[in-house]
Amino acid sequence: MSHHYQSVLESIHAEVLPLQSDGAVANYIPELAKVNANTFGMHLRTIEGLDYSVGSSNELFSIQSISKVFALALVVSIVGEKIFKRVGVEPSGSSFNSLVQLEYEKGIPRNPLINAGAMVVCDALIDQLDKPKKDFLGFVRRLAQNKKIGYNERVAASEKEYGFRNAALANFLKSFGNIRHDVDEVLDLYFHICSVEMSCKDLANAFVLFANHGKFPSTNEVLLTKSQTKRLNAVMQTCGFYDEAGEFSFTVGLPGKSGVGGGIVALHPHRYAVAAWSPRLNAKGNSVMGMKALELLTTKLGSSIF
Ligand code: GLN
Repeated sequence: MSHHYQSVLESIHAEVLPLQSDGAVANYIPELAKVNANTFGMHLRTIEGLDYSVGSSNELFSIQSISKVFALALVVSIVGEKIFKRVGVEPSGSSFNSLVQLEYEKGIPRNPLINAGAMVVCDALIDQLDKPKKDFLGFVRRLAQNKKIGYNERVAASEKEYGFRNAALANFLKSFGNIRHDVDEVLDLYFHICSVEMSCKDLANAFVLFANHGKFPSTNEVLLTKSQTKRLNAVMQTCGFYDEAGEFSFTVGLPGKSGVGGGIVALHPHRYAVAAWSPRLNAKGNSVMGMKALELLTTKLGSSIF
């Protein structure tokens, strides 16, 4: 099997290279536009701890919305499922920063993986954590087993400077009473969690826990119950790609999450976690090469969760 994964990744790399100039890097956060656009990396880690990679799999990039899964996992590990009274679990069918739905649905975001939902989760984390930014980072470092993971303060500042839409969402939530803390404090945590930098290898390491029933594969220590892990994976499956969640299920068939930094991470329960990264995005904000790479992965391996 080991040889198999490596040769599959190598053939995927060759097949996605022709897409290298398709799509465009996110520039609505100016600091993100500084990335080298023509990069591609991919890393797969099995629950047994075997690693396979191609391309720039060790290069750090802005994980952006992928962080919303970490925030959700952390809040669920502390308060359990009561967080779902304040945020739903239905796919939004809208863009990640849409405002309209929030008004119709009276300030209850559709799910925790769109911006508004993640802001509610950040608000709940501020309730629970002593030092929210430090504690969140500690959690991500523990999941990925890498103490060097950090925030990119320039990206966080750039998001804040241009975060008019996110500020609108946060204020809207506050007007419905679904944000309890100061709006600026919630936005500061939100912008920071989006600015975390990780490599494909770090992401695959971190997400392997979701492929392993919520237990750390190396120690079997339990972070999330089986039922909580099921719920997280279900939310990723139905809501992890905004208005392209159906497409990702259709073509890839794994739970996963994308970010506007061009990262995509997905997992096959009981088998592996895999991350792909390439900064050029399609119109829905998902990495062009990353989407194709994961589609090829499940096609070549002949297995998805379906
Ligand atoms: N930080 C980004 C934003 O709030 C995250 C969006 C994303 O990755 N889809 O706009």
